[in-house]
Amino acid sequence: AKEQGVNKFKVFNKTMHEKALQSLLIETEIRQGIPENEFFPYFQPVYSMQNRNLAGFEALVRWNHPERGFLTPDQIIPVAEETGLIVELDRIILFEACRFMSAWIRLYPNANDLFLTVNLSPSQLSKPDLAEAIETIVQETKIPADNLKLEITESAIMERNAASSLNLKKIGEMGIRLAVDDFGTGYSSLAQLQRFPASTVKIDRSFVSHMASDHESLEIVRAVNALGHSLSMDVIAEGVETREQLILLKDIGCDYVQGYYFDKPQTNEDAEKLVKMRSEG
Ligand code: C2E
Ligand code: CA
Ligand code: CA
Ligand code: CA
Repeated sequence: AKEQGVNKFKVFNKTMHEKALQSLLIETEIRQGIPENEFFPYFQPVYSMQNRNLAGFEALVRWNHPERGFLTPDQIIPVAEETGLIVELDRIILFEACRFMSAWIRLYPNANDLFLTVNLSPSQLSKPDLAEAIETIVQETKIPADNLKLEITESAIMERNAASSLNLKKIGEMGIRLAVDDFGTGYSSLAQLQRFPASTVKIDRSFVSHMASDHESLEIVRAVNALGHSLSMDVIAEGVETREQLILLKDIGCDYVQGYYFDKPQTNEDAEKLVKMRSEG
């Protein structure tokens, strides 16, 4: 029995060791990939519930890895968060996504009412240079500030400090709006949401996915929608995959929908085609 215990311990240790090696490898590869421009944004369309038109895009990071090919955030974000590389990655995605959106706004007649949302890691929020970095990106890409929204997860809005409050104030003064992401998962209070200067709340996919089959999820979607509206916020439901979910969300009165039922995240070329089609009516 003793021997078995030792073996178990060894097995456990080896897995830990492999995991550590694996993340070290990924960390090295992210560092090498940044100057090689291996990271770029995909764009997931967001649609208006009212007129079914394209309303904007969410930028989502993708990695074109030289050996392993096309990689998604689950293979990037955890290591990037652990190592602090997320700060640089987020800024690359912000820059690139703003660059594309800015070009579309200049190219297509009515594209100036489209919004672009970009994810901001919680760890960015208290970086003293965040507001300045964003301002530089806005100036360099020439994106109109009011077309840009930054998404911050609900769990991050609860951990406010002096530095993050100052960043949020400066971001607001630039005319950039904020969205609270993954709402419903972070246990924030009504007061916390009210104090947070966001114009949009995004209902987490976990509730949308289950709303047609699970009554509690449906009630959470209803409650978050009502809460958002009572604070004069727009409400986006994410992860919409079925017509049934869409009908429920329309009935509830959500403002915007995003999900595989409409479109998956796509290349800038495909996103641009949608912008072009929209401008042609
Ligand atoms: P998120 O911000 O909640 O983004 C939505 C995620 O849900 C995206 O996954 C999107 O592809 C996926 N999704 C959208 N509609 C559907 C649907 O109908 N069904 C299903 N099953 N999934 C759907 P993705 O691109 O893999 O990103 C995962 C997460 O990684 C994001 O969740 C976000 O938290 C994080 N992330 C992505 N890009 C960035 C980035 O540039 N910076 C930071 N800090 N985080 C990012
Ligand atoms: Ca998001
Ligand atoms: Ca989300
Ligand atoms: Ca999410």
